[in-house]
Amino acid sequence: MLFSGCGYSNVASESFESMDTFMKIDIYGSADTAAEIRAEIENLDSLLSAQDDSSEIGRLNKIGSAELSEDTADLLSQALELCKDTDGALDISVYPLVEAWGFIDKNYRIPGESEIDDLLKNTDYRKITLSGGRAYLGSGMKLDLGAVAKGYAADKAVELMKQNNVRAGILNLGGTVAAVGEKPNGEKWRVGICDPENTAAYFGSVSVSGKVVATSGSYERYFEQDGKRYCHIIDPKTGCPTDNGTVSVTVISDSGTKSDALSTALFVMGIDGAKEYWRSHTDFEFILLDEENTLWLTEGAEAAFRMNKDYEYNMKVIKA
Ligand code: ADP
Ligand code: MG
Repeated sequence: MLFSGCGYSNVASESFESMDTFMKIDIYGSADTAAEIRAEIENLDSLLSAQDDSSEIGRLNKIGSAELSEDTADLLSQALELCKDTDGALDISVYPLVEAWGFIDKNYRIPGESEIDDLLKNTDYRKITLSGGRAYLGSGMKLDLGAVAKGYAADKAVELMKQNNVRAGILNLGGTVAAVGEKPNGEKWRVGICDPENTAAYFGSVSVSGKVVATSGSYERYFEQDGKRYCHIIDPKTGCPTDNGTVSVTVISDSGTKSDALSTALFVMGIDGAKEYWRSHTDFEFILLDEENTLWLTEGAEAAFRMNKDYEYNMKVIKA
């Protein structure tokens, strides 16, 4: 009786642009819940956008300290933990560097060495303090939660689904995908992973339920100069776009914030660092594609993965 079709008969969808990307949510629930989720994501965007001077993060960046709402403080505290845990591969203070390379105003340029060195002096998440709901930045610093915002939004959306007794759905927040429950036929959801050379296609997919799958790739935002590609993921140690042979990293975990943060951080670490990090933190799985077309998969990721036909990546499984 309890499960007699309830919940699965209603499908509600929302497609919209937020956080600088396209989002589509499909839930087995009411249109009201779908609208509530969309409103929540749009609200988070208005709080977190570093590019918007009137957002909480925008004001913090301008003034150097600010009172934060509960959500912003919650995300900032989770993000700082992840910065520490990844030994600064994730560093939410890279914004001045992201700006200097032109990724914000799209006036792409290669900054000089001394300019980069100067900016690196103010790049250090350890100089961000969060205390009693108030955040403080070191001088010259700017925060950017862009690497984790979509993941956090996914977590909030999943929470709203639970509160509204929606037991299944798929939320695609621009490459960060939350797969909740199962498809009506009882199968897991299949989440596609973008082909970096043709982002309209997928090279494969993972079969998941109750997970958030996040991908960071050098193909998402980049510029080319003198035949060299410069991507939007900055290595906080060098102040330059990450250039370690990694093309894309997909992370699968229970938490959107974690999946999103780690997809960026493992990209910066490269395959050797990523392997090592995974072996000491087995609460997630990852898939890394490198420039040689080798596809590295952790054991759990391999079990969930299916390569699409026409793709001939050389698969290598990483054991614990
Ligand atoms: P996308 O937003 O394209 O899905 P990511 O989740 O990987 O990709 O986040 C990349 C964004 O995070 C960049 O656009 C930049 O604003 C910021 N960023 C770049 N490098 C880092 C880094 N090492 N740590 C934290 N944030 C970063
Ligand atoms: Mg990310």
